[in-house]
Parts: sequence; C-alpha cells; structure tokens
Amino acid sequence: MMLAMSDASPLRSGTGRRPRALSGAQPTADSYHLGNYFGAFRQWVALQDEFEAFYFIPDLHAITVDYDPALLRERTYIAAAQMLASGVDPARSALFVQSHVPEHAQLAWILNGITGFGEAGRMTQFKDKSAKNGSDNASVGLFTYPILMAADILIYQADKVPVGEDQRQHVELTRNLAQRFNHRFGPTFTVPEAHIVKATAKIYDLQDPTSKMSGSNASHAGVVDLTDTPKQVAKKVRSAVTDSGTEIVYDLAAKPGIANLLSIYSALTGREIAEIVAEYEGQQYGHLKVALGDLLAEFVGTFGDRTRELLDDRAELDRILAAGAERAREVAAPTLELVYERSGFVRPV
Ligand code: ATP
Ligand code: MG
Repeated sequence: MMLAMSDASPLRSGTGRRPRALSGAQPTADSYHLGNYFGAFRQWVALQDEFEAFYFIPDLHAITVDYDPALLRERTYIAAAQMLASGVDPARSALFVQSHVPEHAQLAWILNGITGFGEAGRMTQFKDKSAKNGSDNASVGLFTYPILMAADILIYQADKVPVGEDQRQHVELTRNLAQRFNHRFGPTFTVPEAHIVKATAKIYDLQDPTSKMSGSNASHAGVVDLTDTPKQVAKKVRSAVTDSGTEIVYDLAAKPGIANLLSIYSALTGREIAEIVAEYEGQQYGHLKVALGDLLAEFVGTFGDRTRELLDDRAELDRILAAGAERAREVAAPTLELVYERSGFVRPV
C-alpha cells in the first residue's frame, strides 16, 4: 500500500464503514465504582448497536503509577468481568486487554514525537495525580499517559469516545494530535469526538460531594464499589454527607450532596429528577437516603452475582479477550502500517 502524501486515507471514517466507538477503564482498583458504571459503562453499552465498538482494559496505563504485578493480573480479570456484567456484549463489541494489541504502544511512540512538552504539561489529570504523591515521585509514564490514550483512540480511527467529564481534556488533546499529524503527513486519522452524557458525566463522592467519585481515593467511604455488599452500599448511602437544611431540591451549587443522590437515583431508575423531587416533597433527606440505599443495594447484589459467575470461568474470559484482541488487531494493524508509511519509515520487504 504505497500512498502519496495527498492521497485520502483509506481508513478514515466516512468511507462507508459503520462509525466506531472506543473506550477503556483502568484496572487500578479491586473494583470499578458507580462513577465508572454510570459515566462510562452505561454509555458503552448504549452505543454497541449503532457503533462498531472497541472496549478495553488499559493495563499499559495502569503501570504509570506504583502497582503490584499479581494484583494487576487479578484486577484485569475483575475488570473484564465487570465490563461484561455491565452489559458489554462480546458478540457485538470487541472487548480486549490493551497489552494484547501492541499497536497501541507503537503508535504512542510516534505521537510522542509530535506532542509538545508544554502541551503535555498542561494536562490537569497529570497535575492532580502527580501532586497527590509529590511530583518527584511521578513517573514519565504518567506524564505521557494522555499520548498513549490518544494512540488508543486513533489506532481504531474511532469516531466517538464515551467518557466521563474528567477525560474531556485528553480527548481534546487527541483531536489536536490527529489534526496535526494529518496536516503534516497527509490524511491518516479520523478526528474523534468525546461522548459525554451530561446527567452522569460526573458522579461525586458520597463523603465529599464536591469532588468526583474516584477509584484512587484513599478512603472508599464515599465510593460505591461494584463489589460492595448490599449492606455496605445501603450504609454508605445512609451516611452520605448532605447539606444543611431538610428540603429535597436539586441545586448543584447550594446542595451538592442531595443533588448527587438525586442524579444517582435518576440514573439508576431512568426517572426524571423533577419527578423524583416531586415524589419526595415535604419529606426529609433521610427518606431519600433510605430509598436510594435500598435501590442501590439491590443493584449491587445482582451485579455482584453476575460478576462472580463470570470470574468463576477464567478460561471463558480468556477466550472472550483473545477474540476481542484478534478483532482489534485487524483494525489497528492497517492504521499503524499507514502511519509508518506516512512517517517515512522504510518497511521490511
Ligand atoms: P482514577 O482515580 O485512578 O483516575 P477513575 O475512578 O477516575 O480512576 P478511570 O479508569 O480513570 O477511573 O476512568 C474510567 C472511566 O470512568 C472514564 O471514562 C472516566 O471518565 C469515568 N469516570 C471515572 N470517575 C467518574 C465519575 N465520578 N463520574 C463519571 N464518570 C467517571
Ligand atoms: Mg480517572
């Protein structure tokens, strides 16, 4: 496939194929949490019919912070099981482990060459995460993480990237890198768009309703993990920090605690926030907490059963992941080949 600089990319979107969706979620905790579920997994599942979908477990990203190899291995299986339990359907979507598709890392190296040092330094996730542990302890991998993420997306010529609000800046960087490469070396990449569903783009910590629910929080008292028992979850919701006052209204600025509970309630039941507020008119915070606690307890109960069943059959998980990686490589390999050619690399004969 020899292509002149001006040739249109044969791989980009708009060439008759179905649009593609791509996303991942790091296996850096013993379980995903409710923020990952609503902010990411639910959107992944919703896109599987309309889009050719690629969903993966970013183990290469997970090693950019201090980690334990045995734990990473186990968490990778848990991640796969929880993605499947969320409704990712391997018959429709490619579900795979990032390191099974070496093209991600190969493309990341190329993109490193067109990313500015200052540009990478402006990424707020790097600033936040390196500040947490003291910037001297931050790895170079953590710094270049967004460039690997750009490679994850661009290698599939993805059109849509379903993520939570915290990833918006990284998708923006990805768009810039795609445009820059296309401009310098000829049309190569599809320029992707973030797919961020406002209502669930940011689920907040139950103990600190002004910061995002996050797997890497030191305390999980305000984090609803998908492996929590129904009892633990009901308790976490009952002890959620709420605001002064008693009236149940949705006001993100003045009453972030109650607003967060209402968002979760709405996401879980599919009911409008206004309708829920009307139902609780005249009642106290406690009523809402007990009701939501019960609903969420039931949800994690069912979710946990399904996850455990999937985890009991590792051979089946391995088969699903191998098939997903095979499908992914069919798309990733031609993109990398085109990139190498555009970059001026002599290809082996
Ligand atoms: P970490 O704290 O280690 O960054 P995380 O909890 O943010 O972990 P990620 O693997 O970074 O998890 O994110 C996986 C996906 O879940 C991303 O699409 C991210 O935007 C989304 N997500 C994470 N936290 C939330 C949240 N609180 N609300 C909505 N979406 C979220
Ligand atoms: Mg994150």
